[in-house]
Formats: sequence, structure tokens, C-alpha cells
Amino acid sequence: MAVPKRKVSKARRDKRRNNVWKIAVPGIAKCPKCGEFILTHRVCKNCGTYAGKDYSKPEAAPVAEEAKEA
Ligand SMILES: [Zn+2]
Repeated sequence: MAVPKRKVSKARRDKRRNNVWKIAVPGIAKCPKCGEFILTHRVCKNCGTYAGKDYSKPEAAPVAEEAKEA
């Protein structure tokens, strides 16, 4: 069995983890419109915006309009 030649010191181990493991929760971003924390690739729960479009009202949703035209 392969065994590490030297013990990694606490300082060296912690330095490595400090840089790599900083990202606590992936898939969380700030809404560009209202600044609220949102899940990525989801419509903002606070202002109903996704990719610069407002999806808060179902009747006026841009996706629905595009579907009618096509
Ligand atoms: Zn928002």
C-alpha cells in the first residue's frame, strides 16, 4: 500500500484547505436586480426576474409570448 513519505503539518494542511474549501454553498448568487440571494438558474423569489426578464406575472411572461408567435 502506498504511504505518504512525510506527514502533512497542520499549518500546511490548513493552508491548503483555506484556499480550496472557501466556497461554502454552491449554486447561490446575488440577484442582479434586487441584490437578494438566489439559487442560480432559478427565477428570483423576491422580484421575479430571471436573465433580465420579469416573470412575476404569468400572463405577461416573455416565454408565453414567444410560444404564441411560434
Ligand atoms: Zn431579484
